[in-house]
Formats: sequence, C-alpha cells, structure tokens
Amino acid sequence: MTWQATALTLFPAMFPGTLGQSLAGRALERGIWSMEARDMRDYGLGRHRVVDDTPFGGGAGMVMRPDVVAAAIAGIERAGRPLVYPTPRGRPLAQADIRRYAAGPGVVVLCGRYEGVDERVLEASGAEQVSIGDYILSGGEVAATVLLDACVRLLPGVMGSGESAVEESFADGLLEYPLYTKPAQWDGRDVPEVLLSGHHAAIAKWRHAASETVTQARRPDLWAAYQARTGQDTPRIA
Ligand code: SAM
Repeated sequence: MTWQATALTLFPAMFPGTLGQSLAGRALERGIWSMEARDMRDYGLGRHRVVDDTPFGGGAGMVMRPDVVAAAIAGIERAGRPLVYPTPRGRPLAQADIRRYAAGPGVVVLCGRYEGVDERVLEASGAEQVSIGDYILSGGEVAATVLLDACVRLLPGVMGSGESAVEESFADGLLEYPLYTKPAQWDGRDVPEVLLSGHHAAIAKWRHAASETVTQARRPDLWAAYQARTGQDTPRIA
C-alpha cells in the first residue's frame, strides 16, 4: 500500500521539492509513497482569501486563523494518519517518531507561516507538535521536508541492499562510528589499522567503542540515556 504524505501549506509549489530527487524521488516515481500539497489559501476568507490576523494581546507579526486552518484540515481524508505540526515549540523530533510515522499509513503535515498557528485549532485537531531543532525557520515547509525525507527512506523497498538503517546514528541510542573509504592513506592520514585487518569481530568492537566515544563527547544527553540503560560508566577504548 502506498504511504501517503499530505502537506497543508500556503506554498504548494515547495513540494515535492528536494523530495522529488534521488532516493525519495525514485520511490515517489515507483509509487512507494505519494505526495499531495494542499493550498490552505483555498480556504482563506473573502475576496482576498485571508488566512491570518493580528495576535490577540498585541505584538509583532500575524497568526494563522483557526477557522481557516480547521477548514483545511477538514478538507483532507486523514485515513488514520497522524496530523503533525512542526514548530520550534514542539518536542524534539526523534528517529523513534520517524520509525512510528513510517510504520503507519502516512502523515499529514501542517506547515505554519508568519508567527504560527492559533493554539485552539492545534488543541482541537490533536496535532502532534514537533521541532526539528533549536532555531527558527521562516516556515514549516522545510521542516515538513525534513520529516518526510526521514520517513520515506525507511519505507520498505526504498533503501537498496547497499544502504542500511540498522547501524545508523540513533539506531542503538549512539551516534555512528567514523567512516573511511579508499585510499587507505590520504593527505598523510591513515585509516585506523583495524579496519584493514578483515577481522570482523575486532572491527565491530572498534566501531562500537568509537560510537561510544563520539556520543559521550558530542551528545551528553544521548550518552546519559545510554549509560542509564546499559550501566556503562565510561566509553570502551577504541
Ligand atoms: N513564532 C514562532 C516561535 O517563536 O516559536 C516561530 C514561527 S516561524 C517564523 C514560522 C513557522 O515555521 C512555524 O509556525 C513552524 O511551522 C515553522 N518552524 C520554524 N522553525 C521550526 C523548527 N525549528 N522546527 C519545526 N518547525 C519550525
């Protein structure tokens, strides 16, 4: 069955965008997933199809109206798909969320613009609010593209046998080990000896230790969770 992505947006021409290329683009052509962008302007009010208004309480910028956004949501066939609203105010989007979305029938992504969307329609629609990082984008379309790209590559048949989601960063709660390819010597720098040994158990051990080391150095949050789960206090020596 085709995995269905719908974006509710004021800029439908931004889709599929980069998702029409490479891995996701080929999967789109093969019908593994489908992409529909719905223009929320179609639900705008009056001759000028207004979708936003000034914030109650004052302040800069505009807010997307709840009646317009609700009509746009009502206009689509959800068919059991979660409604996701990317926003810097959301919980951090994680690979576990991506796995859950990819395992379902698809997602509907509500792309905010201006200062964001009226809170009441987010509550009423039960939208999941997720952030793709601690910075501010100009709109939700790029965040939606990030979310959809991450989902699509996990769909059955999208990644070839040469690519694998098993050993990637976050698969086991750690960042990935460093990667090397030919030439074995470059710019006076050697590839770690063990990787040339052909000794699979030693390579696996080295990679796991390297994953632990980089995770401790770069992501104390992931390292703390890993420690709590495994009881390990320091990284193994690579
Ligand atoms: N006023 C909002 C705030 O301070 O939280 C920022 C609004 S931003 C200019 C416009 C839209 O871009 C948001 O409604 C959201 O849909 C999207 N957006 C911006 N940054 C994002 C992020 N880090 N993660 C997910 N979506 C984001």
